Amino acid sequence: MTERMRPGAADPLRILGAPLPPPAHEQDALRDELERGLLFTKADSLIGWAVNQSRANSIWPLGFGLACCAIEMMATLGPGFDLSRMGAEVMRPSPRQADLMIVAGRVSLKMAPVLRQLYDQMPDPKWVISMGACASCGGIFNNYAILQGVDKIVPVDVYVPGCPPRPESLIYGIIKLQEKILATGVELGPLWRRGPKKKGAA
Ligand code: SF4
Repeated sequence: MTERMRPGAADPLRILGAPLPPPAHEQDALRDELERGLLFTKADSLIGWAVNQSRANSIWPLGFGLACCAIEMMATLGPGFDLSRMGAEVMRPSPRQADLMIVAGRVSLKMAPVLRQLYDQMPDPKWVISMGACASCGGIFNNYAILQGVDKIVPVDVYVPGCPPRPESLIYGIIKLQEKILATGVELGPLWRRGPKKKGAA
């Protein structure tokens, strides 16, 4: 029983339709009605929840691939796996329209600055999935030409293991990313944080 619940008040977890004990006073009856039909929250929590839901369920990945892992990434978009079930099928040809970079394949040292430039051109907030052993740690290519982990040049949010990972694995990685986005706090802009106007201020 919560602190505010009076003895005999409506149990919020009761089975709907079960008879309620009669309220002792009219005020108690009114309060019971209000508690059943209202949801209390803070405005910034509600806005943060809505923003996070929008971000998590409409991810736009940058459409590019580096090696064999990219073939599996392409397969996730086909009818067999249908990435659109997760709301993340809109591959964008420009980094300025994308918020997710899927590093699918090994990154050569020659390609590394290009990849970093693409990342820098993506607007915030943005996320990175490292797909496959090569992207995550160089894989079998432990040599002078291949970057030994893409986290050396961009911040990685989710690692998808495998060589190559199956499309199901990439989809699971995207679901994990969605969970991460939903658990992230949303920073509201300066307009929201501005306090009440001071007396006499313009
Ligand atoms: S992890 Fe395997 S499949 Fe993916 S790029 Fe490397 S060698 Fe190719």
